Amino acid sequence: MKRETFTSADWLTAWEHSLTLPAALRPCALLAPLLEEGQSAAEKLSIGQRDTYLFDLYQALFGPELTAVVHCPACTEILELALTTSDLRLPAASLPLTMLALEEGMYRIQFRLPDSRDLLAISMCSDIEQAQSLLLKSCVHSVVQGDHELNTAELPQDVIIRLTQAMAEADPQAVTEIALICPACAHAWSETFDIAHFLLDTLGGWAERLFDQVHTLASTYGWNEADILAMSPSRRARYLARVHA
Ligand SMILES: [Zn+2]
Repeated sequence: MKRETFTSADWLTAWEHSLTLPAALRPCALLAPLLEEGQSAAEKLSIGQRDTYLFDLYQALFGPELTAVVHCPACTEILELALTTSDLRLPAASLPLTMLALEEGMYRIQFRLPDSRDLLAISMCSDIEQAQSLLLKSCVHSVVQGDHELNTAELPQDVIIRLTQAMAEADPQAVTEIALICPACAHAWSETFDIAHFLLDTLGGWAERLFDQVHTLASTYGWNEADILAMSPSRRARYLARVHA
């Protein structure tokens, strides 16, 4: 990742840009400023690698604590979860290989991991079968059975299941699960934590508070937006305390 200092104005711009994109590409807009090749590099990260970077970005912007609210699926009790990024982010692994191989029975398969462009493509599919076949077509580079090259539509279901498992094992951060037990009814279940959604949501709340601050300072002192955003958060807070005194 690039090492640079970003201002509030930079993150506001990145967040604003994310809103113009389809949902599958929105989290990539937050990583784009951090990567040499910007948005296109972010879109080509495997989902697990993307989420590892998003956990790091969340921690850099908002600190390690994440508070999430979930409902028990059995009794609808509300659980407030006090989590930290280190509970959820897996230890830094080396970057997943760009091309992976699986040997299953007589089949030899070369494949890559799904990325955000694949998520965008499958978000437009009408059903799960169409989504699965599109994902296989995009991510599988070659299938060989003995001496014959096959296409992905010819793969038996058990090999497809094994391939899906191999993709998940190679990119473990792609799905972040939290094991939960309801304090009210003792129901145990597993909840998926979506850092992309969580970070976009947190950044959205931060942006709205920042707009409030700019609005207050601009209307009180007549300063312009760029100058207010260029101030450090603590300096802004000091002026705001005087406005409200
Ligand atoms: Zn419950």
